[in-house]
Amino acid sequence: MKKIIVAIDGFSSCGKSTIAKALAKYAGYTYVDTGAMYRAVALYMLRHEITEQTDIINTLTRVQIGFALQTDGTQHTTLNGEDVEAHIRTLEVGNKASQISQIKEVRAFLVNQQQAMGSAKGIVMDGRDIATVVFPDAELKLFLTARPEVRAQRRYDELIAKGEHPDYNDVLRDVNDRDYRDTHRTESPLRQAEDAIVIDNSDMTREQQMEHIYSLFNKATI
Ligand code: C5P
Repeated sequence: MKKIIVAIDGFSSCGKSTIAKALAKYAGYTYVDTGAMYRAVALYMLRHEITEQTDIINTLTRVQIGFALQTDGTQHTTLNGEDVEAHIRTLEVGNKASQISQIKEVRAFLVNQQQAMGSAKGIVMDGRDIATVVFPDAELKLFLTARPEVRAQRRYDELIAKGEHPDYNDVLRDVNDRDYRDTHRTESPLRQAEDAIVIDNSDMTREQQMEHIYSLFNKATI
């Protein structure tokens, strides 16, 4: 079985990371959550109150992002050595991530690191530009989507589970705003690669989805 690169792109809250993690486990591959990398940069800028674009660009060299494997097999994002997993998943950091991800230099800074991580293949990477920019030659490209209301409900449930008290309409507005920004930005807008396989999971169970994806993976590795 040959080692490949699996590129997974799609809208926010359509279950990309859950699917990518499950596939990485199934394949024995490394999983890279590129959204977490944009979120870690955003957290750094929020903490240091850096808002001007030129200041953000000049500060990038001070940002070191890593992934620390936990004893339970999960990965936690680190920012300059600190485990920031619990801090990067808020709406505030997500919004800031969506803003700073529009800056060309921020993207170049992270894309370089992502390409290095995939140089030995055997990787499942998820994000917005993985199949179009980071790994245009990936052997398997998936594009995930779901209706905005379904995605807002999923994010709402996640935030409640974390002890936050969001308003569903705020979450839905946030999903729509983020979709708009991700698809309309000048730098690497979210779009489906021509050769990507589209999976709309609005009405699919997780099992149905994974069965489909495992079978696509098995075919791609022959
Ligand atoms: O996937 P997640 O919601 O964690 O990503 C946070 C934000 O980071 C997204 O809204 C998007 O704007 C940005 N992002 C990106 N390119 C990626 C991954 C994430 O622009 N490859």
